[in-house]
Amino acid sequence: MGEFTADESHPRYNSLLSRHKLEIAASKGMLADSAMIAHGRGEAFDYLLGEESSNNAIIATKNALAHLNAAKRPIITINGNTAALAGKELMQIAEALNCPIEINIFYRTEKRISAIIEHLEAIKTEHGITTKILGEKPDAKIPGLEGPRANCCHEGIFSSDVILVPLEDGDRCEALVKMGKTVIVVDLNPMSRSAKMASITIVDEISRVAKNMIDLIESDYKNEIDIDFVNKKNLQKSINIIAANYMS
Ligand code: ATP
Ligand code: MG
Repeated sequence: MGEFTADESHPRYNSLLSRHKLEIAASKGMLADSAMIAHGRGEAFDYLLGEESSNNAIIATKNALAHLNAAKRPIITINGNTAALAGKELMQIAEALNCPIEINIFYRTEKRISAIIEHLEAIKTEHGITTKILGEKPDAKIPGLEGPRANCCHEGIFSSDVILVPLEDGDRCEALVKMGKTVIVVDLNPMSRSAKMASITIVDEISRVAKNMIDLIESDYKNEIDIDFVNKKNLQKSINIIAANYMS
């Protein structure tokens, strides 16, 4: 794997840096082979969306944070891509919310779970974060799902009332909604099954979302649940942005 040589003046600096972070994560055994494909799909949508947090993404982010704040048992889940791109920030958010995080990967292997935990533990030590990491020993199952991706922790995902699941698969998102949870998805594709299934979809890039949430937590912004929020309408606004960018 090559060294990262691009400097910040490069017009595609952020994109190159994210790719580099994923290369490192892959070399540590944190990613399934399909992770790069999922990232590529995200990149394509980010290009179409203008590679910035839209106004409607910020509205969804604020509402998501308000729901997490008001939750009895909030949880943030982290997969390999998310750990590589925003592991530190998501653990900082969990610390502020006083909730655990749970490793939640689609193609579950013990080796990959251990690699992700090792990566996150190193970040915790370096930054003095105390967030609890769940997922090593699943002891519950998400009803309606088959195989290893049904596995979860009773203390974490299973018992949660509000769940932040970045880059989630549509099927599992649907199963979590059926469990009665408020499901918050981060997905750059406003047309994915996850995006359409979720209670709140933040159509934005996960590292930008995590930074925006930290900024909101650190500001004295008064965070209230938006009772008029309609997810489908918010998704349509992202689709409108793509269409407008194409026309301009
Ligand atoms: P569906 O939700 O329709 O089942 P999927 O889950 O099968 O789709 P995947 O390719 O498995 O689709 O999931 C990756 C999803 O995550 C894509 O929709 C992609 O746009 C999104 N994505 C990838 N990287 C990022 C990122 N860095 N930030 C936000 N979203 C991302
Ligand atoms: Mg999906």
